[in-house]
Amino acid sequence: MKHDLIVIGAGPGGYVAAIRAAQLGLNVACIEKEAALGGTCLRVGCIPSKALLESSEKYHEARESLHRHGVGTGDVTLDLGVLLRRKDQIVTMLTKGIDGLFKKNKITRYAGHARIAGAGKVVIEGAEPKELQGTHILIATGSKVANLQGVELDGDRIGTSTEALNYPEVPKHLIVIGAGVIGLELGSVWLRLGAKVTVLEYLDRILPGMDSDLVAEAHKLFTKQGFEFKLSTKVKAARVDGKECVVECEGAEPLRADRVLLAVGRVPNTENLGLESAGVQVDKRGRITVDDHFATSVKGIYAVGDVIRGPMLAHKAEEEGIACVEHIVTGFGHVNYDAIPGVVYTQPEIASVGKTEDELKLEKHEYKKGSFPFMANGRARALGDTSGFVKILADAKTDRILGVHIIGPRAGDLIAEAVVAIEFGASSEDLARTCHAHPTLAEAVKEAAMGVAERTIHF
Ligand SMILES: Cc1cc2nc3c(=O)[nH]c(=O)nc-3n(C[C@H](O)[C@H](O)[C@H](O)COP(=O)(O)OP(=O)(O)OC[C@H]3O[C@@H](n4cnc5c(N)ncnc54)[C@H](O)[C@@H]3O)c2cc1C
Repeated sequence: MKHDLIVIGAGPGGYVAAIRAAQLGLNVACIEKEAALGGTCLRVGCIPSKALLESSEKYHEARESLHRHGVGTGDVTLDLGVLLRRKDQIVTMLTKGIDGLFKKNKITRYAGHARIAGAGKVVIEGAEPKELQGTHILIATGSKVANLQGVELDGDRIGTSTEALNYPEVPKHLIVIGAGVIGLELGSVWLRLGAKVTVLEYLDRILPGMDSDLVAEAHKLFTKQGFEFKLSTKVKAARVDGKECVVECEGAEPLRADRVLLAVGRVPNTENLGLESAGVQVDKRGRITVDDHFATSVKGIYAVGDVIRGPMLAHKAEEEGIACVEHIVTGFGHVNYDAIPGVVYTQPEIASVGKTEDELKLEKHEYKKGSFPFMANGRARALGDTSGFVKILADAKTDRILGVHIIGPRAGDLIAEAVVAIEFGASSEDLARTCHAHPTLAEAVKEAAMGVAERTIHF
């Protein structure tokens, strides 16, 4: 049982690295402790949450806005069982797809919990323990939910995103602790399906780290949708009390709800991996320390994805997995961290790439900006979805694009053009002089780029 590369964890970082390494001619093994491949992303993250977001959006649309298009629906009903089963089927189809890709690429799959037993040696724990030898070992064990002191998770009424993907009934009142991406996406699902949703956030703003203009607009729009935000609120405790949950916050009356979703972030997953005995260093936050080519402090051991520094995003993990194995095999491979998009799949969507305006101000970087509202975009009018805007930030001297921030319809798809522009080192004028099809939402990106030179046409 000797392999060129042993990958620990079959999430987006691990499975993508395994496939690319096999394409490059390595003999690859991948060890996964869960029954299904695909990691957090496919099993209990990106994919199931997006399936629920789509279904809940359709329900909400049928109830609230289809009539504006002249479409009558009669009584709109919700079959939560069907909605949840559809989500499960999508997950099963995609995770089985990875099985197929492993077979196609002749990757040896091992089931069980992996532990590094020294350079080049991995032990698989379980009923029938195994020992594998590998020239290279890649750790891609991802992350797990961060706990909050005083919050008593019972895996049912007080739970994490995993439970919130499967509530057996629509909560009457859902309290979300944490106004980050996961809290707002899953909060949106249950709000649209009829729950009252209260979001408690320690900071004085939602979506920490995102551009302040987007955040201000998002806060306004989400409040209009019915989200109740309690900002600057420190949660001290949460516990189940009969069929209810009680949440205690500093300096306020306790809140009661039938469900609580804890969504205050995620922490690297390095439990029982044998890092210490192998000599693999971690930083203060428990993340495995790596160099620019994902090499850890131990020769022949690498790490990618949520378990190392940087944004906890599936596409970031994938890019790292590919760059890491390409570097092992060819000596080349890198990730451009200035061009990693971040998307919040709420309604409207929010998407960003590059520097925020807040960061540029802090760095005293001189910049110009242009923006364009979807209200002035023909396609957004036709869609009946005119909220939000596109904002482009460019270097004051060179005009090179530094950041693009979008809140509005299909922002998650629109951002791809901005990512390519940043990757290619484009100027705002490059974008402004590129022909965009009419009528499309993408014209708002072009107009925002024209706005950098104060020459928008339609606003
Ligand atoms: C609700 C939710 C929604 C999300 N939505 C998005 C989104 O829309 N877009 C986005 O980009 N990101 C999203 N994310 C984040 C995304 O899921 C992660 O960034 C991504 O999965 C990280 O990939 P990874 O390969 O590093 O780790 P993971 O996907 O966590 O995979 C790690 C794998 O390693 C396995 N493992 C761990 N330890 C061992 C061991 N010792 N032995 C064997 N196997 C082990 C785990 O079982 C797991 O399968 C979401 C996350 C959540 C929770």
